[in-house]
Amino acid sequence: MSMATILSKGTFAKRPFRKRSFKGGIYPPEQKGLAAGMPIEVIPTPEEVRLPLLQHLGAPCKQVIEPRSQVQLGDIIGRAKGFISAPIHASLRGTTARVSATTLPAGRRVDVIPIKADETQPFTDRAVYDEIFGGDWAIEELNNYDPEQIANTARDAGLVGLGGATFPTHIKLRRNKEKPISHMLINGAECEPYLTADYRLMLEAPRPVISGAILAGRAVDAEHVTVCIENNKPKAIKALRNAAEGTNVSVCVLKTKYPQGGEKQLISAVLGKTVPLGGLPLDVGVVVLNVGTTAALARAVLRGRPLTHRVVTVSGKGVMAPKNLLVPIGTSFRYLIDYCGGLNDVAQTVIAGGPMMGFAVGSLDIPVTKGTSGITVLTQHETRRFGFGGGDGSGQKPQTPCLRCGRCVSVCPMNLVPGRIAQAARTNHPQLAERYHADACVECGCCAFECPANIPVVQLIRLSKAMLRRKT
Ligand code: SF4
Ligand code: SF4
Repeated sequence: MSMATILSKGTFAKRPFRKRSFKGGIYPPEQKGLAAGMPIEVIPTPEEVRLPLLQHLGAPCKQVIEPRSQVQLGDIIGRAKGFISAPIHASLRGTTARVSATTLPAGRRVDVIPIKADETQPFTDRAVYDEIFGGDWAIEELNNYDPEQIANTARDAGLVGLGGATFPTHIKLRRNKEKPISHMLINGAECEPYLTADYRLMLEAPRPVISGAILAGRAVDAEHVTVCIENNKPKAIKALRNAAEGTNVSVCVLKTKYPQGGEKQLISAVLGKTVPLGGLPLDVGVVVLNVGTTAALARAVLRGRPLTHRVVTVSGKGVMAPKNLLVPIGTSFRYLIDYCGGLNDVAQTVIAGGPMMGFAVGSLDIPVTKGTSGITVLTQHETRRFGFGGGDGSGQKPQTPCLRCGRCVSVCPMNLVPGRIAQAARTNHPQLAERYHADACVECGCCAFECPANIPVVQLIRLSKAMLRRKT
């Protein structure tokens, strides 16, 4: 009997399958069928990439390369400033240009280093895919690696949470005597509608995912390493189980519900533990990493390669030919959409990420960053359904006053009272925002999705949070 089977029975048998979920949440239309069947494609090398010096939570990087310098794939161009930061590496071979600026989807203005691609690249086409996902992943030897070295490699390779959170990975991988880790959860839930990048990764490259999971578990000395995946991905579940055979990694199947992939919801669903308000998974002995992050960790440790590429889903009813693409970080949204045949007649809104937690973008010339899991192009109807309306709110459905129906409360996975936090923003009342724990909101969007009064609850909660930040 494999260790995976033993752990599956030993660790999870006490929790019946129907309970592997969390309180609250919603069931938005999945829409994954558009891109789920599309194998990961390597895009032709773009003429230029533009690399923001801030692609992670924490301090921006310091530029360490002059304009008109020749850089090789993987060279450091931005050095981490401070502990919570992550270096940025050249994602192709080429020549740097003068620093410019871009506005990231969440609205922050940041410096960008452009690199014009050389005509010849070290890897192109299938060779890129093979170098990143192919070959042997030394699964049998991974428990010999030095834990501190694994964390240091994650730091030097610029790894951050590739699920979108972009928290620097090396911090999660440091052992902490005061807070020992019992469980390393590898997040393969990918609960956002439309996105299938993680699904294709798990299906096509399960071995680097499992290798990285073992390395991550070794780094923090976790007793249990578990890949968590929703039950709407049976092929990926099978692929991961096969790859984990004979290792200390188990696979836990979860109910399909949004936002199952939220760290706190995942911990609640898999382990029945509650992360305290204002606390971290570390506080309950858990670390959560995305499947893309573990695959990148395996590449960094076993192949000495920094984070230069990622898988991006380009999907939605507004794009001609949805695909999953392996792209150099810094490639423009426009290049990827054009590669997918362009926008069609019903395209209305381009979202960085998925429609629940993503941000509408004002320009297609923004670059893919480490946290860009997808580009979703919504129709007019979907734009309204998911609550995107542009700056003037014109795309949104007409609002009515709050009906006090309580639907936002019943779906909030953080047990908050969203309507009250929204009211705090409207009345400019920071004490109210504080009393109703605005800071605990994970901006999952469930409340706004369910609100029959069409109140833009999440936007208002963001304003409440900003109000609290100003107060402190
Ligand atoms: S209040 Fe925040 S955490 Fe709760 S449903 Fe709304 S967006 Fe999600
Ligand atoms: S769901 Fe909307 S209408 Fe109902 S209580 Fe919440 S904010 Fe008010």
